This record gives sequence, structure tokens and C-alpha cells, in this order.
Amino acid sequence: MNDDKRIDGKAFSASVREKVKRQVETLQRDHGITPGLAVVLVGEDPASQVYVRNKAKQTVEAGMRSDEIRMEATATQAEVLEVVDRLNADPGIHGILVQLPLPDQIDETAVLDRIDPAKDVDGFHVINTGRLQVGLPALVPCTPRGCLMMLKDRLGDLSGLNAIVIGRSNIVGKPMAMLLLQESCTVTIAHSRTKDLPELCRRQDIVVAAVGRPHFVKGDWIAEGATVIDVGINRVPKDDGKTRLVGDVDYDEAVERAGAITPVPGGVGPMTIACLLANTITACCMANGIEEPA
Ligand code: NDP
Repeated sequence: MNDDKRIDGKAFSASVREKVKRQVETLQRDHGITPGLAVVLVGEDPASQVYVRNKAKQTVEAGMRSDEIRMEATATQAEVLEVVDRLNADPGIHGILVQLPLPDQIDETAVLDRIDPAKDVDGFHVINTGRLQVGLPALVPCTPRGCLMMLKDRLGDLSGLNAIVIGRSNIVGKPMAMLLLQESCTVTIAHSRTKDLPELCRRQDIVVAAVGRPHFVKGDWIAEGATVIDVGINRVPKDDGKTRLVGDVDYDEAVERAGAITPVPGGVGPMTIACLLANTITACCMANGIEEPA
């Protein structure tokens, strides 16, 4: 029975990517446009290399143009900004993503601010953050967009539901809370100073955990039938000296009470790249003043 509760992010992300592929075909056929995504990687961080490789692979599979710009770890800020300027000016590129973290000599904020907000498919630019706040069309950070898609797929109309977001980071917690508010949820944002968090959680229809602490949310924090979205990705040691990934929620406990829950791995994680592609479609359509194909 608990298997029915499991929200399969892998399968869901595959369906999002299929939809993106169909949208690309429509844009090519009806408008002669191929959406383009550029990813900038500075340095040789092994995890970043894997992410960038996966992003490029999935971009190509969706039928989009994929540009990968690799720069030496010693690249200067001016060199990185020059690359961003070039991509901003390239009409065939609709989305730009600068892979974080950047080497120490580079000011991350300055680089992210330089990206044309219309091409900011990570949704980190202050213009997009502001547009999201005031309810204007905006490019929304990929992970919260993916979480919302999964919630709506499972629950349909979210209006009037009580939702808590644990975590208030700019890339997950805050935009997630804004998206839920836009769906007319009653939203609580919790953080490290929040009092009585277990009790607060027990009152919620939706719990989104974005904390970065393994198994932080316990089963008895979850109301019977609540929907749990676990954003956390934590690497913990196993008995054999290797490591495994676990979420911010104690899945085995929480699944007994939840109505639906995302596992880690295989929940929110796979949705992030799918939403990056979806954001590139959004950016491409906004840039060309055309409605997003269904
Ligand atoms: P941050 O470290 O930026 O934010 C963590 C948040 O958790 C902070 O707001 C912090 O509060 C809050 N917090 C920390 N301790 C507690 C506590 N004891 N009680 C309540 N709140 C607490 O993390 P991110 O938002 O970047 O990421 C969160 C998790 O999501 C990480 O595991 C990360 O790896 C994962 N992640 C997964 C992605 C995916 O694709 N699936 C994408 C992005 C992130 P305060 O502000 O007060 O310090």
C-alpha cells in the first residue's frame, strides 16, 4: 500500500521531458525556432561536471540547441562576464545557466546579475525574484517549479490547503513558499529559529522540507494523509564505508502517515533538470512573444 503513496519523480520527470520535446517540435514546425540553452562551467569541480554533462545530454535529447562553455578554473571575473555578455547577445540562446559554485576569485552575485533576466532559466536574478513576488510572469527556480508540478499532479487544486516550507533559502525555500501562496495555500515558512516545528508541521496538508539535514523531519510530525515533498539531498556514510543519499525526511516513518511522499533519491532530484528544460521553453516563448505550446 505504501507504494501507492510514493511520488515517482523519475517517471514524472520523464513525462515533463517528453512534453518539452513535443513543445520543441511545435516551435520548430510552427515558428521555425529551436530553443537554445547554454551552460557555463568554470573549473573542474567533479560534481558540477556530472551535472553539466547530464544537462547537456537531456537538452540534446529534447531536440534543443545545447551550448557548453567550459572555462579554466583560473578564469578571471572579466572573462566570465564576457562570456555571459556574448550569450546575452546571441539570439539563438534562450536560456543561460552558470553552474555554481564558481571559483573563489569570481563574484557569484555579479555574474548572476549580469545574465539577461529574460534568459535567466535558473530564476535566480533579482528581477525574476521580484516578478515572482508581485505575481508577474517570471522565470521560477527549477527545484520549486518541479515540486509544485508534483503537488498539483497529485492533489489538483491546492487552494485553501495549509502548507509549510521548512527552509528559507533563495533557491528553494522562499520561491517555493511564493509559488504555494500563488496557488492560494496558507503558507508557513519555517527556519532554524522556528519554535515548536513538529507541532506546526502536524497542522499541515503539505510539508516541503528543504533543510539539508538527514532525516530531520520525523514521522510523527506528519498529519495523517498529508503530502510530503522532500527536497533534501544528504550524503551519509554506510556501514561498508561507502555513502548513500538520504532526504531531509525520515521516509520509512513518514510514509506510514503521509498520503503521498517523494523518496530520496528518485523524487524531487530528477525533476530539476526537467524543469530547467521547461524553463528554457518558457524563456524562448516569452522572448518571441508566443504562447507556450500545450
Ligand atoms: P540552505 O542551507 O541554503 O538552507 C537551509 C534552510 O534550512 C535554511 O533556511 C535554514 O534556516 C533551515 N534550517 C536549518 N536548520 C534548521 C532547523 N534546525 N530547523 C528549521 N530549519 C532549519 O539549503 P538549500 O535551500 O540550498 O537546500 C536545502 C536542501 O535541498 C539541501 O539538502 C540541498 O542539497 C537540497 N537541494 C536539492 C535540490 C534538488 O534538485 N533536489 C536543489 C537544491 C537544493 P536559517 O535560514 O534560519 O539558517
